[in-house]
Amino acid sequence: MSARKSMETFAHDCAGCNLCVKNCLFLQQYGNPGDIVRQVLEGSLDKEIAFQCSLCGLCAATCPKGLNPAGIFLHMRQMVFEENQKVFAEHKQIMAYEQRGLSKRFSLYTIPKNCTQVFWPGCALAGTRAKRTLQVYAWLKTRVPNLGIVLDCCAKPSHDLGRKAFFQSNFSSQEQFLEQHGVQGVITACPNCYRIFATYAQKLAVRSAYDLMAETWPDDRVLTGQVTIHDPCGTRCNQDIHASVRQLVRKTGLEIHEMPHSGEKTICCGQGGTVYPVAPPLALNWQSRRKAEAGNRKVITYCAGCCEFLGKSMNTSHVLDLLFEPQQTMNNRVKSTVSPFTYLARLWLKSRLTSSNRKDVLEKELPVNTCTRSGISPARLLVLLFIVAGIVGARIAGVDGLATQENIHRLVGEFGILAPAAFILLVTLAPAFFLPGAPFIIAGGVIFGPVWGVVYGITGATTGACLAFLVARYVASDWVEKKMTNPCFLKLKQQTEQHGWKIVAFTRLVPLFPFNLLSYALGLTRIKFSTYFFTSFICMLPGCVAYILLSSSLFDLLQGKWSTQCLAGIGLLVLLAFLPMVVKKYVPQGLKNKEL
Ligand code: SF4
Ligand code: SF4
Ligand code: SF4
Repeated sequence: MSARKSMETFAHDCAGCNLCVKNCLFLQQYGNPGDIVRQVLEGSLDKEIAFQCSLCGLCAATCPKGLNPAGIFLHMRQMVFEENQKVFAEHKQIMAYEQRGLSKRFSLYTIPKNCTQVFWPGCALAGTRAKRTLQVYAWLKTRVPNLGIVLDCCAKPSHDLGRKAFFQSNFSSQEQFLEQHGVQGVITACPNCYRIFATYAQKLAVRSAYDLMAETWPDDRVLTGQVTIHDPCGTRCNQDIHASVRQLVRKTGLEIHEMPHSGEKTICCGQGGTVYPVAPPLALNWQSRRKAEAGNRKVITYCAGCCEFLGKSMNTSHVLDLLFEPQQTMNNRVKSTVSPFTYLARLWLKSRLTSSNRKDVLEKELPVNTCTRSGISPARLLVLLFIVAGIVGARIAGVDGLATQENIHRLVGEFGILAPAAFILLVTLAPAFFLPGAPFIIAGGVIFGPVWGVVYGITGATTGACLAFLVARYVASDWVEKKMTNPCFLKLKQQTEQHGWKIVAFTRLVPLFPFNLLSYALGLTRIKFSTYFFTSFICMLPGCVAYILLSSSLFDLLQGKWSTQCLAGIGLLVLLAFLPMVVKKYVPQGLKNKEL
């Protein structure tokens, strides 16, 4: 049935009894679902209001006629996406989150021999509780022989935002891949993933990790007191899971006080349906309603997303934390990882799983229509890591007050010529190991200050770029040539031979290529070394100065001071960000629109 036909049928069937309206903050604003659908069909109401519905399904659980308004609002979202072919600007962040989850860098398929079941923890649990995910996996392995593990995203954000075609092609490619490798079932700890698998999987069976755990988890009863339980919307209709989670909580010794809305009649935590970015007050009203029902009791939930959202305004813990660290959890001593560090936690988890199961790791094709690169490059991650580690380290050590440029200079001065020599050597050798140069340059600003930082930084960066160029030209041209299979590099070679220094300048100023690869690639062209050297030096200088100006004022920033050099660094970085637009006007025809 077409979306329009479903809406017409729905408008006809809805009795307008308003029973669903009583429980729903969204419907209380816009009227009952039948009226909303009729107005949308007549054109007097914009179907974009569907993005304010949490897709929580409480209305369907309430409707005496067995209608599913949430399904109709999802149809409307799909229609909006089909018309616009893009998501709203407000949803870009969640799409970037999904894209990273689906990228090669974050996903992992570990399927051992004779594996028929895999653990699918879900992105939110893996990011907020990477160590816990390992613990749960280890525990499940003792119950399920040859259990594999998959770190991937079920693309529920796309599902909820109406990207139906992409969601379906992604999900079916995941299901097919698992099936081709003998997997028959998925065990998940994410209620949203559970719903996605239960609704869309054709052949795979889905089980909740909580059902499995409830069967054999020890009845320790080490705790006393009372908590309440927030059931996530994703598993609203799964009474077995509700019962399993309660059984697990009781096994710790805690008593459960039920909230007015629980189990099948649970309400949204506020995060459902990605409502928050388009209607923050509505999302926060759901959260407040939950808070009012919970009173002063601690809330236990089993969705990492709900836990994070509710945790912003009330005492909330994940049931897995409660099971593995009962006392600490009740004393609120268990900390979860918060965004953006969740990405680092996921990379850490992936590397742990990869190193301990290397022979079982399988390569899976990426879904079509998804960028192969995630938004975070290794260079950016490393820079972020350096800065955050520096600030946090200084704060923890309580030395942020002592960390002044003068003290650092004094310390470095004790090493004499050795300090700049070692620094230049590091920056020079970074390209040889494909290490990003930016973190070293930033460190140069902190260690040597704005003037000598630039001198040493640009010396090392230019020497490193020249070394890579010379290695590619005279030492390992065959090896480098084999690496440059991307058609873009072949085009780069042709264009450099035709336009000479302009291409070097253009590619140094506009980051079309990874910096280190570019140095090697240019070594394969017939451009003169002196031309390459001078052009690279001049075009790398502005970026180097900007980074050094910023990083040399890091300690002033730590002490809350905005120095002139810091503002100059930010200004220069902003100018550099606009440079590609200016530079493109002057590049030869054939290089515009990233034709390289
Ligand atoms: S799905 Fe939830 S938010 Fe949407 S209409 Fe139904 S009850 Fe309201
Ligand atoms: S409860 Fe069902 S019939 Fe009543 S207004 Fe809601 S959708 Fe319509
Ligand atoms: S539903 Fe699960 S896998 Fe999908 S986005 Fe959410 S946490 Fe990730």
